[in-house]
Amino acid sequence: MTLPPEYCDMSGQNSPLRSILFAVSEALPLIKTGGLADVAGSLPIALADRGLDVRLVLPAYPQVVERSIPLEPVSSLRLAGWSEPVRLLRSRLAGRIPLYLIDAPGLFDRAGNPYTNASGNAWADNALRFGLFNRAVVAMALDQTGLGWLPDLVHCNDWQTGLIPALLSEEGSRPATIFTVHNLSYQGIFDRTSFDQLRLPGEFWSPDGLEFHGAFSFIKGGLAFADWITTVSPAYAREICTPELGCGLEGLLQHRSDRLQGVLNGIDYKSWDPATDHTITPFDAGNFHRKRLNKRQLQQELGLQKDESALLFGHIGRLVRQKGVDLILEILPDLISHENTQVVFLGAGDPGLERTLRRVADQYPNRVAAFLGYDEALSHRVEAACDCFLMPSRFEPCGLNQIYSLRYGTVPIVHRTGGLSDTVIDATPRNLLNGAATGFVFDQPTAGSLWQAVERAIAFRQRPEIWWQKLATTGMEQDFSWDVSASRYQEIYQKAIEHPAPNPITE
Ligand code: ADP
Repeated sequence: MTLPPEYCDMSGQNSPLRSILFAVSEALPLIKTGGLADVAGSLPIALADRGLDVRLVLPAYPQVVERSIPLEPVSSLRLAGWSEPVRLLRSRLAGRIPLYLIDAPGLFDRAGNPYTNASGNAWADNALRFGLFNRAVVAMALDQTGLGWLPDLVHCNDWQTGLIPALLSEEGSRPATIFTVHNLSYQGIFDRTSFDQLRLPGEFWSPDGLEFHGAFSFIKGGLAFADWITTVSPAYAREICTPELGCGLEGLLQHRSDRLQGVLNGIDYKSWDPATDHTITPFDAGNFHRKRLNKRQLQQELGLQKDESALLFGHIGRLVRQKGVDLILEILPDLISHENTQVVFLGAGDPGLERTLRRVADQYPNRVAAFLGYDEALSHRVEAACDCFLMPSRFEPCGLNQIYSLRYGTVPIVHRTGGLSDTVIDATPRNLLNGAATGFVFDQPTAGSLWQAVERAIAFRQRPEIWWQKLATTGMEQDFSWDVSASRYQEIYQKAIEHPAPNPITE
């Protein structure tokens, strides 16, 4: 195969960025388990708006196949480590972004979650599933799938795409690679047998490569081999270089810190706009009083006491320890001992936390409501209805719900960590005075520290109404659209193309 001249020039000098292959394991509106899907459903569109040829590739899960219409076969691939042919399918995301699906029926055609079975346990063959997905993406990146298209850069996301930069590093001519860490605590750790099953190059089994304390790490493929590493907020980029939040990878991340950058996630301003959101009673900063109608409706819907003057707190999120919902549960008795406070939870996950939430909601039916499950439309109604949003995450790479809250005039109460500290400005006297305050920020991931922030919010709410409105509408006026972040990514893509990273094994 003859490659175009600019493609072969790995010095990359002056080669302009045109085309990007965005590899990801979930994307809205096709499939979502967390914030990764929000990003993958929005960032490629923002990049395409900047004139780039962006194409998305995902595994062909049944939900994705169902929602990708029309869908046509492109080619059939043979991949190392799997005896069956794998099909490459083509569709479009949002009617415009070319979307490719890797169809390996034995691996992806299963009911349920992309990563776990119905009982919430990781699929036993996840290494094989995502290993083959990665091999298929590499074949696409090298134009070995009959598409006649060579990307300038492959943008990989989280451990499910970690082997792509490693495999591409073996190629003499290759596109540049970016690896984005959306959450370092999920690493894709498997055993040596899985490594062998994927028939990976033997030299990858090294502490400089994919080996991690005697195990096989997908995420190291991204962190050690990618030309550039990004994560989803500047604060988290610093935090993952420390032993506290580095998850054992802080040494590698420090070593690569000259190629590590934090870019704050944007949000999809079309889906999350209180002025046009068809799932709520619309409002904006100019007619903020209409937000109250949403409170009344949600109180009615969830069986809470109907009272517009109640101070309604909300929490939405995966029920995992990271999100600190246990801290909210700890302060709940104190919180509802305050006259006229109510709390609503929307979440799914840990069965123990689900049971506890159900129990407290039964115990205080007029004051606490818990919807246990995943419901996108309800998440919009909760954001629109609440006065305050509780987000006491122990760590938070970026966090989207506090940004949705800001946009919906729902004052966030957040732990000072990661993206939460980059997006919420504490209501200190000085910040209130200069009009910068947007929420309440507390310093320790403890019930005591959270409670102090909640008490500050309750006290502030008792001040003249106009003060609260100013705090909430300042949040509504912040710009968290994708434009700024997409331009940052474009700059990083260009740097990655111009300065390929040395191979960590042979350097
Ligand atoms: P993470 O990616 O760690 O789950 P983020 O805050 O970045 O956290 O993103 C979570 C996304 O998932 C947000 O869009 C949030 O609204 C949504 N979400 C989480 N749990 C639920 C739920 N039970 N119902 C609806 N949406 C949810």
